[in-house]
Order: sequence, then C-alpha cells, then structure tokens
Amino acid sequence: MSIIELDKQYVAPTYKRFPVEIVSGKGSLVWDANGKEYVDMGSGIGVTAFGIADELWQQAVTAQIAKVQHMSNLYYTQPCALLAEMLCTRTGMKKVFFSNSGAEANECAIKAARKYAAEKRGSGCSTIVTLQNSFHGRTLTTLAATGQDHYHELFQPLTPGFVSVESGDMDSIRALAKEKKLAAVMIECVQGEGGVLPTDPDFIAALAAFCKQEDVLLIIDEVQTGNGRTGALYAYMHYGIQPDIVSTAKGLAGGLPLGATMLGEKVEQVFSFGDHGSTFGGNPVSCAAALSVLSRIDDALLAEVREKSAYVFEALRGAKGVESVSGMGLMIGIKTEKPAAEIVSACMERGVLCLTAKTKVRLLPALNIPMDQLQRAVEVIKDVCAQ
Ligand SMILES: *Cc1c(COP(=O)(O)O)cnc(C)c1O
Repeated sequence: MSIIELDKQYVAPTYKRFPVEIVSGKGSLVWDANGKEYVDMGSGIGVTAFGIADELWQQAVTAQIAKVQHMSNLYYTQPCALLAEMLCTRTGMKKVFFSNSGAEANECAIKAARKYAAEKRGSGCSTIVTLQNSFHGRTLTTLAATGQDHYHELFQPLTPGFVSVESGDMDSIRALAKEKKLAAVMIECVQGEGGVLPTDPDFIAALAAFCKQEDVLLIIDEVQTGNGRTGALYAYMHYGIQPDIVSTAKGLAGGLPLGATMLGEKVEQVFSFGDHGSTFGGNPVSCAAALSVLSRIDDALLAEVREKSAYVFEALRGAKGVESVSGMGLMIGIKTEKPAAEIVSACMERGVLCLTAKTKVRLLPALNIPMDQLQRAVEVIKDVCAQ
C-alpha cells in the first residue's frame, strides 16, 4: 500500500489532506515522494518559523536532546526557565505557563481569567467575551470560545460562559460588564482561520481602555499572530496596549509542540500549586527550540518580515484575478475571483504550497524565506489568479 492509501485506511479522517506526501525539506523548499520541489508558503500553518530543518534550530534541538529530552515538571530544567525569562523580558509580562498547543495555551488563559474574576468578584463573574468569526482551538472549551457556530453543531454541550459579539461592538461588552458577569475579553489582533482579517485598531484601543477601567481581563490570542508573524514580536505590540494575558503557540518552537500563556501583573499570582499542570508542557527540547527561535526574532528580522510583506501586498494588490489582499506581516489573505481551493491546487501543480482560510488563499511563509523563493511563489500565484 502507498503511504497515502495507508493513511486513508488507518488515520482518523479529520483532515482533508492534499494528495501529496512530503518527505523532506530545507528552509522554504520541500520535496515530495516523487522528487517534485515546492516553495512552502504555509510553513506548517505558521509553525516552522525558520523553515524546514534549519541549521541553527537543529543545533539547538539536537544539543538539548543529547542532554535531557524530558524530566516532567517535578524538576527544574534550564531551557524552561530561560525561555520564561526571555518571554517576560521581551513582553513586560510577569509569569509564563507552558503547554503543548494553541488550544491548551488558551485553556490556561481562560482558567486564569476565571480564577481571577471568581476571587475578586465571586463565582458568578465568569463570562468570557470573544468575537464572532474568531478561532481559539478545538477542545470543548476553546470551541465554545470560538465564535463560529459551524464548529459547534455536533459537539454540544460545550463549556458554558462564553458570549461572542460582533467585532467592534463595545455596547454589548459594556452591557455585560454592567451586569457584573464579565471576567475577560479574548481577541485575535488578526483573525487567522476566520479569513486573515485584521481587527479594527480603534476597537482594540477602546477595548483595552475599557478593560483597564472595568478590571475586565484582556486576553490576546497570539497563537497564530505571535512570534514575529505580523512584523512585531507579538501583534498586540502594534497597538501600544499591554494585555493582561497573552497566549501563543504555532511558531514559538519552530516546529516542535509548545504553547505559552503569559500572565501580566494582575494575574501573575493567580495560580498556586495544583491549579493547573501539564505532563509535556515546558519540555526542555521544545523550550530549547523556542529559545533559538525567539533569539533570532530581533529588530532586523522583524524589519525583513515587514519588507517582504510590503513586497507581497504590492505584487498582488490589483493583480488580475485578485479582488483584495488583507493581513499583516507575513500573514496574508488573498480574495481571488476564482475559488480559493482552485487557486491552491493550481499553485500546487506548479510547485507552490499555499493555504486557505475561509474563502481566501492564505500565505504564512517562513519568516526567513529567501527573497528569490518568495518572488518565485508570488509570480506563480499571480499567474494562476490571472488565468
Ligand atoms: C491555530 C490556532 C489555535 C489552536 O492551536 P492548536 O495548536 O491547533 O491547538 C488557537 N488560536 C488561534 C488564533 C489559532 O490560529
């Protein structure tokens, strides 16, 4: 049986996979089982921040594997402590809880917010507002937080206590706060799965001011937007705000599973022994990988991300067959005249791997994609859209 047939027989069919078996890669190039080369414009859904099998990343990972790959959270390990320090130093946050995925990072954020509000204002104060069209994960609680009904239908009952409001609707948020039920508001600065839609900066500013005034916690879900993706270390940094809680994952460890929930001043003491935990969370190999990734996301790299972003926007905006281009940094959505799925499969045919988000073509290339490979991919995308 071929790998594709084996997978179809034995792997639970939750993913609509492309009919391609990837066997190796280097940076932003990957090769399939037939030896065909592709430019990778998806980077494992924004995960392989410095591409496939990057040398520095490999060195960090293999050095740690040779020392100790896992000890559980019953002991101290160096990468975990150093990574927490680096995250706090670079964000102004105070403490970090490590997990293994975006959904888990959000679960932790939700637990922290619920406990903070319960201790301050009583257990009735538990509602968390999220935005319509948001995406926060696939666990039953983060599905409840996700403001898209079609994800909910067959999995009732979900965790109660979530209300989704339209992006920009401060009135509904104010009304909930008046009822003394509101614990936190959780948003993405750019809705990724929702179609690469930047949230209105005026709304973000108003929301941050409101949360501060009402002692409602502001949670920013940076699972996709974080770690350099939007041209800032974290997307919230574009808006001059200081969130109470920031969750992140995807690109953080450059391809190994790692989630982080950063707790600001208000919530730094919210957790005590036993309140939360994870067997794998803060794994030394993942943390060593993340230390390597984060230490490379400096001002020069972020400036490069913004330059490459400007190039893509300029090349695709107004191009034939392209209706609009949205997003921030190297998180880009393209509304095409033809259905996105058709564009993506035509691009694949021509050696470029793209993603979709809702009805758009989505690009999340590695942060360090070489300019010539980026140009090669953009030319193919333009050509395919024009046909
Ligand atoms: C991908 C994503 C998640 C879920 O992350 P997993 O690692 O798949 O659990 C949560 N929030 C946002 C904004 C995401 O893009």
